[in-house]
Amino acid sequence: MSKVHICKRCVMDDVNTDIIFDKKGICNYCTDALDNKDYVWHKDGQNEFQKIVDKMKRESRNKKYDCVLGLSGGIDSCYVAYLLKKYDLRVLAVHVDAGWDTEVSTENIKNLCKKLDLKLETIKIDYNEMYDLQRAYFLSQVPDQDVPQDHVFFAELYRYAL
Ligand SMILES: [Zn+2]
Repeated sequence: MSKVHICKRCVMDDVNTDIIFDKKGICNYCTDALDNKDYVWHKDGQNEFQKIVDKMKRESRNKKYDCVLGLSGGIDSCYVAYLLKKYDLRVLAVHVDAGWDTEVSTENIKNLCKKLDLKLETIKIDYNEMYDLQRAYFLSQVPDQDVPQDHVFFAELYRYAL
């Protein structure tokens, strides 16, 4: 068995057959990321975002909330929650517990919403049904094992929003 070559900067290794290392042992993924770190993805992004925020506020002025945020508790949705609060939107955070939430993750979500003063609604789905679906996907060897969970997240968020 040959030795696995690991990037000197990150955790990528040559188990990935597309990886290329430079003379310093840095992988092409690191080099690409560093080359593009200053690239501005949306040159006018802040103004575009402000327009969206203004539109949401205008359209919801007679409603209790400006928007519904699907909050998984991961870094992306937590950052969006922070950003929406920063833009002074009235946010209803909706979390769907598909059966994989831990005590710690549940507490983290509650703490985030408490700190940001967001109303949190948690939807707990039928765990036994979810386990059956995920088990069926697993046993059928379907490549995308997240389909049942992804579907329940979107279905519950849309249902709740309506
Ligand atoms: Zn790397």
